[in-house]
Amino acid sequence: MAIKITVIGAGPGGYVAAIRAAQLGAQVTLIEKNNVGGTCLNVGCIPTKALLHSAEILEMAKNAAQYGVDLSVKGFDWTKVQAKKNAVVKQLVTGVSGLMKANKVEVIKSAAKVLSATTVETEGGKKIQGDKVIIATGSVPSVPPIPGIKDNPLCIDSTAALSLDKVPASLLVIGGGVIGIELGCAFAAFGSKVTIVEALPKLLPMMDGELVLSLSAMLSKKSITIITNAKVMSVENADGKAKVHVENNGRKEIFEAEKVLTAVGRRAYTDGLGLEGIGIKTERGKILTDDKMETNIKGIYAIGDCLGKIMLAHTASAQGEIAAENACGHKAIYDGKTCPSCVYTNPEFAGVGATEEELKEKKIPYLVGKFPFAANGKSLIENGGEGFVKVLLGAEFKEVLGVHILGSRATDIIAEAALAIGMEAAVEDVINAIHAHPTIAEGVREAFLSAQKRAIHIVNK
Ligand code: FAD
Ligand code: NAD
Repeated sequence: MAIKITVIGAGPGGYVAAIRAAQLGAQVTLIEKNNVGGTCLNVGCIPTKALLHSAEILEMAKNAAQYGVDLSVKGFDWTKVQAKKNAVVKQLVTGVSGLMKANKVEVIKSAAKVLSATTVETEGGKKIQGDKVIIATGSVPSVPPIPGIKDNPLCIDSTAALSLDKVPASLLVIGGGVIGIELGCAFAAFGSKVTIVEALPKLLPMMDGELVLSLSAMLSKKSITIITNAKVMSVENADGKAKVHVENNGRKEIFEAEKVLTAVGRRAYTDGLGLEGIGIKTERGKILTDDKMETNIKGIYAIGDCLGKIMLAHTASAQGEIAAENACGHKAIYDGKTCPSCVYTNPEFAGVGATEEELKEKKIPYLVGKFPFAANGKSLIENGGEGFVKVLLGAEFKEVLGVHILGSRATDIIAEAALAIGMEAAVEDVINAIHAHPTIAEGVREAFLSAQKRAIHIVNK
């Protein structure tokens, strides 16, 4: 008889786990209280990238004369920008529903509660019996304990920001992480005066610091004001605007904004799941698992944002496949070493493996190779050659420790670096692969060459 698996939450963790389990012959029930697709498809990755793409088209159109194209840009129609975003979301959500049908996954629209590894309860007290459970309940925005933010109609989270009925004239963003920067860039391109306030000394704390500095300079050129080492102390409303009190490097300042976006991280969402009742181990609300994605209770697995570690769609999906395989009796281990971090700015920013800061902190000896996109033909054609590639290699064996790219299409070409790290490739392996010309990816190979002092299109120092 087929093994029965109940998956809770249909984001990129849960729906991928459901498909993988079905492929392995399981009878799968997927319980989702909202739309399938989760945060990622409905209010996360996809709608943000849709807005950013419209923003990029607008920026390109405004700069078209540089490329010899004579366009007169009338501006943009926000209703149509929103409609395009919503159409993409709808198509993908419908696609996921279709995939569930095709894989014979039963989808139940309800909030679920876990009673044991074999019983899950839906609304109205209906019991779903099975053999294993996979929890994939995701995350929700954290609300910082800053006086004046909670229940303030001028203070919004990322979900509200994605569906604003008009572009705010001014936007103050609390938090210079991925959400703050991506949405800040989108609204800046549509004409908002954007100020980003970050508590730490630099934006995007988890990314390579040298590239972050370059990106920060590029954002400043786009008229985005970036304030680091600064704390929002309180928000009050006056004359229909938010007055944001900021302690900026020890000085008190007040910024005025039409909207305030809080983007200070997300918290694992396990509310109402009943975890305490059955003794699933958590740490500050985050579900704990081993590397097979199994919790302390045999037969109950957990994946994705509800673990509160790496909150990325591709991490959730990768863990979903691992959990499904283990739940179906296979032996699979999750290893995050090939997981890229991507920021969809213009130009894009992507990294995989260790940053230079991490290597220094761990006292791991390393070599650096760098290549500026100003010396890459395709990049020059596309965006004037902004950004650069940095590769970090082990000092002795020249294995790939980390690759960081700021430049056009960085989020696509980082896949080569993830493969190199996954295959434990050394510098020669990447160098020996012939990269097509003209491509941005040639810049990656050149950075590897540069670590060996043999880059072709720059002078090796
Ligand atoms: P989710 O996608 O959050 O799905 C969880 C699902 O579980 C939800 O649909 C929820 O309704 C459901 N659920 C919760 N509790 C219950 C319950 N008790 N019963 C039934 N259903 C329940 N990541 C990237 O990799 N790339 C990006 O570009 C990117 N951009 C983002 C932009 C924004 C604005 C945001 C907010 C996030 C972004 N992310 C991005 C992060 C990404 O969306 C998440 O990491 C990903 O969605 C996590 O997947 P998940 O399956 O773990 O959870
Ligand atoms: P984040 O953790 O990326 O960044 C939050 C930032 O807010 C940090 O830099 C932090 O130092 C800062 N901060 C915290 N409290 C603050 C305060 N009181 N004042 C000023 N700054 C403060 O979180 P996020 O940007 O909210 O994103 C949430 C999650 O969504 C992330 O884990 C990310 O992985 C995921 N996401 C990913 C992508 C992508 O992959 N492109 C895009 C958007 C979101």
